[in-house]
Amino acid sequence: MPTEMEHITEHLPGWLEESRHAASEGKVADYIPELAHAPADALGCTLIDTNGNTVTAGDCSLSFTMQSISKVFTLLLALMDRGEERVFNHVGMEPSGDDYNSMLKLELVEPGKPFNPLINAGAIAITALIKGDSTDEQFTRIRDFFRTIAGNPDIDYNHGVYTSEQQTAHRNRSLAYFLKDNDVLSDDTEVEDVLDVYFRQCALEVNCEQLARMGMVLANGGFDLVTGQELIPYRYVQIAKTFMVTCGMYNASGEFAIQAGIPAKSGVSGGILALVPGRYGIGVIGPSLNRKGNSTAGLHLLQKLSAQYNWSIF
Ligand code: GLN
Repeated sequence: MPTEMEHITEHLPGWLEESRHAASEGKVADYIPELAHAPADALGCTLIDTNGNTVTAGDCSLSFTMQSISKVFTLLLALMDRGEERVFNHVGMEPSGDDYNSMLKLELVEPGKPFNPLINAGAIAITALIKGDSTDEQFTRIRDFFRTIAGNPDIDYNHGVYTSEQQTAHRNRSLAYFLKDNDVLSDDTEVEDVLDVYFRQCALEVNCEQLARMGMVLANGGFDLVTGQELIPYRYVQIAKTFMVTCGMYNASGEFAIQAGIPAKSGVSGGILALVPGRYGIGVIGPSLNRKGNSTAGLHLLQKLSAQYNWSIF
């Protein structure tokens, strides 16, 4: 009897090719103009188990920006910097039921606090909480934290994507000004400064293997796989995983919980970070997105894997 990992190693390339056709059902994001250059039919996946064994298939050499996936890790850093109470004074714990960049509820629901840290408004509020005396120091702390979690000292942001978002982020700008008016961003917080850190954070560039390693740390309860060192307190990992299940796939998180049932977070570059608690960290890239902003081929592949191996945590 082959182990599950051996079975995955044998079958992943074939399943990946089957999932690739789903790319034609979606479209590469272009509201950040630089993202539009990504290859629409690319699909790559890396999976790492708790022994550090790695399986890769498809277009794994492709680098991509983390975009919304970064929000999981800035949330963790903010929790480590400020503690739960302070963080949840600024953001809620509930799915919004709206698109990730919606500002509807900020005006509609008192007290105008973002519903959760994984929608854009919530993530911008979280970035403002990262410790540092300057925006450069805040960003450097975020980047270094990501490097530690990924076990890779070379991770950095893509200047082209950063600049492209910086020049076109009218909606995020309006969200951030709204937050300032609602006192979610404090009086001494400069909106443009927070946004600058947020855009750089979203432009942090990884590949599938680095993403899978980051997922592995969460799957492993916050402990580094190699050194055994605690990188993140377990309580915060628990919070992050819960948000990934309830809000990680935007306004399609309920459907993904039913179809795949594993914590995951997607980004508008087409990346998905997923994990099977105690077992696997998974990184996927498939730039073509559905209407809700999730990778069409990436979703297809993760749902196939989860069904095949009965990964649902429910
Ligand atoms: N940088 C992107 C934005 O703020 C991230 C959104 C996403 O990945 N869904 O619009």
